[in-house]
Amino acid sequence: MDKNNRREFLKMSILGASGAALLPGSVKASSGDFGSAMRMSNLPERLLGKTGIKIPLISMGTGGTTNSGFVRAAYDSGVKLFFSATYYGNGNNEILVGEGLKGLNRDSFIVGTAAIPNGLDKRSGLLTNEFTADGYMKVAGESLKRFGLDHIDIVVLPYAAKKETVQHEGVLKTMEQLKKQGKVRFVGISSHGETVEALNAAAETGVYDVAMISYNYKIQDKVLLDAAIANAVKAGIGIVAMKTTAGAYREKSGPQMNSNAILKWVLQNPHISSIVSGMRSVEELQKNLAMIQDLKMTDEEIKALSFNVPGATLYCQQCKQCLPQCPHNLDIPTLMRSYMYAYGYKNTEQAWYTLAEAKLSANPCNACDICHVQCASGFDVKSKIADIERLRNVPLDFVVA
Ligand code: SF4
Ligand code: SF4
Repeated sequence: MDKNNRREFLKMSILGASGAALLPGSVKASSGDFGSAMRMSNLPERLLGKTGIKIPLISMGTGGTTNSGFVRAAYDSGVKLFFSATYYGNGNNEILVGEGLKGLNRDSFIVGTAAIPNGLDKRSGLLTNEFTADGYMKVAGESLKRFGLDHIDIVVLPYAAKKETVQHEGVLKTMEQLKKQGKVRFVGISSHGETVEALNAAAETGVYDVAMISYNYKIQDKVLLDAAIANAVKAGIGIVAMKTTAGAYREKSGPQMNSNAILKWVLQNPHISSIVSGMRSVEELQKNLAMIQDLKMTDEEIKALSFNVPGATLYCQQCKQCLPQCPHNLDIPTLMRSYMYAYGYKNTEQAWYTLAEAKLSANPCNACDICHVQCASGFDVKSKIADIERLRNVPLDFVVA
């Protein structure tokens, strides 16, 4: 089946009969197609905590990238930090990043990855008996091989939420070993939810150098989160922000959001060293790099953030309040993340893998006439689950670009 037919098949599967949603797309061009990326010199930088490294305010989250040429284009445009994960594309994303940076001066870029240990129960945020420090070392070692580098600059423990996990003896031992063996320069956590607890726990250890956290204009409990960020920064932890667009710019066919306003809002916090942006086109890359030249928000941008379009956000706070409310035990936070990747970020591959994590049974919500879940973000979770669960019917071959 050719690419056009594949795309059409995917479109029909995920959009359903209404066809009302946006088609999740992907970057498919060869490296030559990115040749027009314009070099932006003197990008504004901030210090990344006790690492002592200075990085531009925009970094690249590579999860949405399917072309190593685009990684190189971002590098050529001045981006220094590239962040992947062991679970993006089942490890293939790390290979792609390594290819994109191959042959470059090793000191001229920074590579990070979220290395997920065996035995991490994402739903509870706790480690099970399956976790071992040796196993975690192996996970990080495999990641290093995939990048094809002599070392990784930053390895983070993903889905960090609970103090017990962040301060787990085996995790800390692994992190220290990785550094000692020279495989990794800096270690950290990444957190989508329960971030206050995770940050405070990380700050207490003295081990972690970096924290990658969800931070956007839709976050609840901003006061508490900002205090935890300040506490972590005081402990020398460099903060990198992710999920900064709060689920991207639109809900299905809804209005576009002002991306400059959304990203500038994040950088108003001086403790945020950089934004890890899941950029997917040269235009987006250049727009972001131009944006960081002047962080002062215009009246129009301030207004754009207060413009509350009903249903316009796809951002799930990952607060887990829905979990005990669902009598059928659905992993709703994971499903909502998958929904956001598909309909917001238009990253079908990441949505597909995330959906698989939720381990849905057939017809997951059919037993309920009405949904019992009162979502903290006001989502109609039943309807969103119906929209995203169709992606299960799409074979992975059709999703990966
Ligand atoms: S209650 Fe809503 S916002 Fe909170 S985790 Fe569940 S779906 Fe996400
Ligand atoms: S309809 Fe609501 S309560 Fe019922 S299974 Fe779906 S998410 Fe759970």
